[in-house]
Amino acid sequence: MFAGADEYGVDLTIDDADVERLLAVTPDDADAPAALSFSRNVFIPLTTACRYTCTYCTYYDVPGEATLMSLDEVRETVRTGADAGCTEALFTFGDAPDERYTEIHRQLDEWGYDDILDYLAAACEVALDEGLLPHSNPGDLTREEFADLAPLNASMGVMLETTADVAAHSGNRRKTPGQRLNTIRAAGEVGVPFTTGILVGIGETWRDRAESLLAIRALHERYGHVQEVIVQNVVPNERSDYERPSLDTMRRVVAMARVALPEEVSVQVPPNLSAAADLVPCGVDDLGGVSPVTDDYVNPDYEWPALRELVDIADEAGVPLRERLPVYERFLPDGDSVRDRDGTPDGARGTAPDREWLREPITDRLSADDVHGRRFRNVARGDGPLSIPR
Ligand code: SF4
Repeated sequence: MFAGADEYGVDLTIDDADVERLLAVTPDDADAPAALSFSRNVFIPLTTACRYTCTYCTYYDVPGEATLMSLDEVRETVRTGADAGCTEALFTFGDAPDERYTEIHRQLDEWGYDDILDYLAAACEVALDEGLLPHSNPGDLTREEFADLAPLNASMGVMLETTADVAAHSGNRRKTPGQRLNTIRAAGEVGVPFTTGILVGIGETWRDRAESLLAIRALHERYGHVQEVIVQNVVPNERSDYERPSLDTMRRVVAMARVALPEEVSVQVPPNLSAAADLVPCGVDDLGGVSPVTDDYVNPDYEWPALRELVDIADEAGVPLRERLPVYERFLPDGDSVRDRDGTPDGARGTAPDREWLREPITDRLSADDVHGRRFRNVARGDGPLSIPR
């Protein structure tokens, strides 16, 4: 059983035979993708406060130095993104600031918000108002917290990272695999299209990698909510000197992910951190959120490749590149929204269990008869004015 699983009542059993099968996978065993996708986003680091201190992380700031964006700053950023043709407002922070962050709590209180999640909801409303679809990564959440935030998000996410109990998460304040798995389960119970992933090179073994991928698969089989799994390598940075995993390692992990996961779940690598072109043949079919207007605040030393470079990656792999929304096509609603207005989206893979995946604020935004609604529907169709000139 995984660390913390009992505490959170996470009931997952990983079959040893499945682990062994996955450990035998080589890079040649995975199918190359038929196409590559990406989402055009703006990155919004709502706060740099985080209750944890993971040793590989440069994102969090200590109390007294952590920042909190005002809603005016959020509005300015998302407006710039919408003007640049983005579809996604990527709200990221670590995990709810604990009591050490007195200034953050004082500021939230002064602005009239109970806590950071209450404030995130207001920021999502600003993004929707300005014509972007929120995708929030606010760390570990309960089912009730997902229920509050789901109506304002096209999709949400949290990195599982690993099911192993690694020293990288050690210390007085630590997240546990059981807590992360509980979050992914809660997202499934509420019905949130979800992004998760593994972090490679933080002290986990090959068996841990296999078990992590199989745990994600097991939760997806239960709820059908996982839209993509990120396979991210750790990178050396100013706070740590973790060794970057070799290309051979990443090729094998990507192939394991592709073999472990059902076809409808995308395998993604971040092109600013990985040799994406070399990994595509091992089963990568998505390059994640790529921003034409904001930095990657989680990995600020590693610049996002220009959109043009994504075309080069796709060309090198010999596959077409298509822009997608932050929510994958199979979760889009039927009825009087995106599909009926403009036809079935191109590139839709698989079907999602029949349930309400997107709520009214999001479906209204998608089907709105305005410049933003049209932009979303064009992207969902795989064509329109945003296609990259070749
Ligand atoms: S990796 Fe995430 S949870 Fe860990 S310290 Fe950084 S922001 Fe916080």
